[in-house]
Amino acid sequence: MKNKKYKGISTLTLHTADTENNNFSHTTPIYATSTFTFDSTQEGMERFKGTDKTRLYTRWGNPTFAAAEQTIEALEAHGLQNEKGEPLQLKALLHSSGQAAMSTLFLSNLSAGDTLISHFSLYGGTQELMQKLLAEAGIKTIIIDVRDASLLQKTIKENPGVKLIHLETPANPTLQCVDIEAICTVAHEHGVKVSVDNTVATPYLQQPFALGVDFVFHSATKFLNGHGSALHGVLLGKDLEFMNTKVWKWHVLLGGNSNAFDSYLLIQGMKTLEIRMERHCSNTAKVAHFLDKHPAIEKVNYTGLTSHPDHAIAKKQMKQHAPLISFELKGGIEAGKKFLDALEICTRAVSLGTVDTLVSHPASMTHYGIPREERIKYGITDGLIRMSVGIENYEDLEADLAQALAKI
Ligand SMILES: *Cc1c(COP(=O)(O)O)cnc(C)c1O
Repeated sequence: MKNKKYKGISTLTLHTADTENNNFSHTTPIYATSTFTFDSTQEGMERFKGTDKTRLYTRWGNPTFAAAEQTIEALEAHGLQNEKGEPLQLKALLHSSGQAAMSTLFLSNLSAGDTLISHFSLYGGTQELMQKLLAEAGIKTIIIDVRDASLLQKTIKENPGVKLIHLETPANPTLQCVDIEAICTVAHEHGVKVSVDNTVATPYLQQPFALGVDFVFHSATKFLNGHGSALHGVLLGKDLEFMNTKVWKWHVLLGGNSNAFDSYLLIQGMKTLEIRMERHCSNTAKVAHFLDKHPAIEKVNYTGLTSHPDHAIAKKQMKQHAPLISFELKGGIEAGKKFLDALEICTRAVSLGTVDTLVSHPASMTHYGIPREERIKYGITDGLIRMSVGIENYEDLEADLAQALAKI
């Protein structure tokens, strides 16, 4: 990595990826290779013995993955220092999807008999992984409202097997936020580690390492890529020794590595992270206020509205409010279906964080695997609609929403 200090995020994402290569390519080359050559047997032996094992076989690492990883490390560490006052060093491991990175996170930190605590309102896949698959491996998950500090203390004390607290803030699709710093303080008093899913905020809006966390997770499929062109996941940690040994081993042997083409797409996408996020955020604020005032709307979940229960905490730990909203129509699920079908510009699709606006129905799509009773308890009601606001010209978005709402 060009170990330079950049004042701004766009300079960082444009210039961090290593472009030094024998053929003077301006963009990062796509190293489409499964393996790497040795000039001699001796060189091969030395590379295997060495500390950097990333130029041996692509499941272990690849220069195109490394360029993406270095950019994400620089983004999450931007402007931060370690306890000694030195620039914070992080280790990122790029995976084939968010779920692959999540599997590495959980399996490298938890074994049979251990307990994981998480907050209610989570990405559907995370919750299923915890409650269905980790349970089969003998790892227990306790889901509570971690915003209740005394309940969190009590749960840790009553369950000596707790090793990790996994947070998602803001959470998809309710936009619930939890106080990362306060939870880290409680967790660390008991020797428990904390991981944060930073997918919805991105490092541009929120840097969880500044608030004390041990690990940061991203589904880089979303805002980091930004264009919906590939799946990727990334796991970052600040304990470099642990990341380079235990976590790396799980990553390499589970085999959830990325590939060079997708890594290239991610590097290209991240170059415009800052300007995309600025537009995503300003459009979202306008859309949320428009919907909030509309007579057909029952409720809007957006942390930028003072009516959102986590407005204050979102403001405290994020640079701006995240560009994701969900809302309910007064006419419930039937009105919701009519509204979705009447949209002409917004795209009907799951996923989030793409340049165009995506609209979906969590109860029948992303959270279909979560039992109805539980889902409703978390705020994912039958009529809830999720909207990932894109970078279209705002006037077109408002006109599309207005015409669709007029048809219900
Ligand atoms: C999409 C998503 C995931 C899962 O990531 P994939 O890249 O789809 O595997 C995890 N957490 C959040 C918040 C997500 O939005």
